[in-house]
Amino acid sequence: MVTGSKHADKNADVCTDPACCQAWISDAEMHKNWGDDYAANLDKITAAVTDTDGEYLVSGGTPILAAFHSSSGGTTESSADVWGTDLPYLVSVSSPETEAEVPNFKTTMTAAPIDFRDTVLSAHPEADFTGAANTWIGGMTKDDSGRVKTVTLGGVAVTGEEMRTLFSLRSTEFDLVYNGNFVFSVTGNGHGVGMGVAISVPRSSRIIRSQSSIRRTRVAAASTASASRENLRVSKYSSAAEAVS
Ligand SMILES: [Zn+2]
Repeated sequence: MVTGSKHADKNADVCTDPACCQAWISDAEMHKNWGDDYAANLDKITAAVTDTDGEYLVSGGTPILAAFHSSSGGTTESSADVWGTDLPYLVSVSSPETEAEVPNFKTTMTAAPIDFRDTVLSAHPEADFTGAANTWIGGMTKDDSGRVKTVTLGGVAVTGEEMRTLFSLRSTEFDLVYNGNFVFSVTGNGHGVGMGVAISVPRSSRIIRSQSSIRRTRVAAASTASASRENLRVSKYSSAAEAVS
């Protein structure tokens, strides 16, 4: 098995923190979340796992970084712009989705001037907010996917990722205006790299019903969000020995 030894200190390759490795919920939580749909949902998940057992996607002979997020807001993000790592299958691509399909597709976050100022100062004490609040926002730069690279606040360039963390924004795809308060208008949810599950999972379910082909669905879902399907191949462990080596 190919492992990253990400948690070598704990003698583990993955943890159950969704922000770090892999989301996980207990059987009791599944019952609570799904109610009467528990059996049907678990059947779907079990079928997806067993149908693809031993398979993995490779690019250039190396297992892919299978990044996913909730909702891209219409355009996925490149791994280079988020993590500084250029991967040929994690580039920005169109991934059309609408407010009708994705819950909380657009959200707003409002901060009173004093809260806005103090939050930015907590990370950038060098920012100058001595002028009137309507002068605090300077220029904004965006990357090819429309996400914020930097916004200048009190004369200091703050990255979109920093702003997302500081103000608990759902994504870095936002606009910011001052109208007496500071108002963020945010689209999508998550870092935007790889597959957007809010849209690909429901669509996959429809394809499964119409074609009875989980494998085709899975590859299609991966390629809708990951740029270039010619970069991706499905590989299979050739033997049990290889699977554990
Ligand atoms: Zn982890």
